[in-house]
Amino acid sequence: MDATRSLQNDAVMVRSAPSHMSSADADAALPAGYPGYLTIDLGALSRNYQAMTRRVAPAMAAAVVKADAYGLGADRVAPALYAAGCRHFFVAQFHEALAIRPILGVDAKVFVLNGLQPGNEEPCVQAGIIPVLNGMEQLASWQALAGSLGRTLPAVLQFDTGMSRLGLAPADLDDVQKAIEKGGLDILFVMSHLACGDEPDNAQNGEQLAEMQRIAACFADLPLCFANSGGSFLGAGYHGALVRPGIAVYGGAPHGNADNPMEPVASLDVAVVQTRTVPAGAKIGYGGSHVAARPMVLATIAAGYADGLPRTLSDRGAVYFDGVRLPIVGRVSMDSIIIDASALPQGRLTLGARVEVIGPNQSLDALAADAGTISYEILTSLGSRYFRNYR
Ligand SMILES: *Cc1c(COP(=O)(O)O)cnc(C)c1O
Repeated sequence: MDATRSLQNDAVMVRSAPSHMSSADADAALPAGYPGYLTIDLGALSRNYQAMTRRVAPAMAAAVVKADAYGLGADRVAPALYAAGCRHFFVAQFHEALAIRPILGVDAKVFVLNGLQPGNEEPCVQAGIIPVLNGMEQLASWQALAGSLGRTLPAVLQFDTGMSRLGLAPADLDDVQKAIEKGGLDILFVMSHLACGDEPDNAQNGEQLAEMQRIAACFADLPLCFANSGGSFLGAGYHGALVRPGIAVYGGAPHGNADNPMEPVASLDVAVVQTRTVPAGAKIGYGGSHVAARPMVLATIAAGYADGLPRTLSDRGAVYFDGVRLPIVGRVSMDSIIIDASALPQGRLTLGARVEVIGPNQSLDALAADAGTISYEILTSLGSRYFRNYR
């Protein structure tokens, strides 16, 4: 992907720790001087994928690797998932498909969720990328190209079953069937997407499933592709032939606030760039919004909202050091956050020390909850300034 990223990756390969090293030793071998260290555990990623395949068998599991594999690096994540047995990859945009197609085996299929854009038809054929057809126009242009090439082109048919976002309207069902009978299209899956898959008790899940089954009955011999991560945990009725998990493979909780059965994949440590002691009454951060109620030991860490730690964490949430919770004080800045280190023994936190933002003491989902958002938004916002350590 970008030049900085691949340089960083080369650095990791040169420095990759011998197998007798503990993970703490491996961390110590990381290059100094970065604002933060984003560790991506490709082993955990693969185990999450395989756990998902066991969960949904005899259905198959695809992997959703859109938005640069939820911010974790599609150039590393997609090949790792391929090695773990994944052969169906979903991205959102055509250019994301172009980026991963050459780094996967020829037996992998790459699908574009956002569908076929006008002018993209021929590049799509040339690159061997499979569009999700979301409307009659897309269906017609793909079919027309198949006709002019004198061949059959693969596609996925997406129907909107109650989310009003992407997909053919159920009212188009007759027209879709008639169009397909004319030939030229090899429909690999009939697909839809759940709006509330992360909420097991939401009645909309059952309504969408019923609608999916009604549509599927019109395409009796075609396999179904329906469930995201949350949907994959709703029971076999939701699995179809192929599930499409994203967040669960990356270690996020498939069902919002329930116990998370997945292994964490991403952890984030951020460097301390300054420590100071302030008296009671000191104003802390932009706007002077936090006033010290007592003398405090503060530390400034080198990541802020430009690094995916949202401004909504201002005076909320915390980081950890030695397992001790250190609250965020004052407003989150673009490139830094001030934390209250008073709970640590004096002098324990020094320049260059790394505090845990995501890790054993604070899950991705817990951080997201403190920020008033979801794990997906945290992961996809982490940005490019951290050192990326692929393990
Ligand atoms: C993003 C997306 C997924 C993956 O969803 P998760 O909740 O991350 O598992 C699956 N299908 C579609 C259509 C998507 O847009």
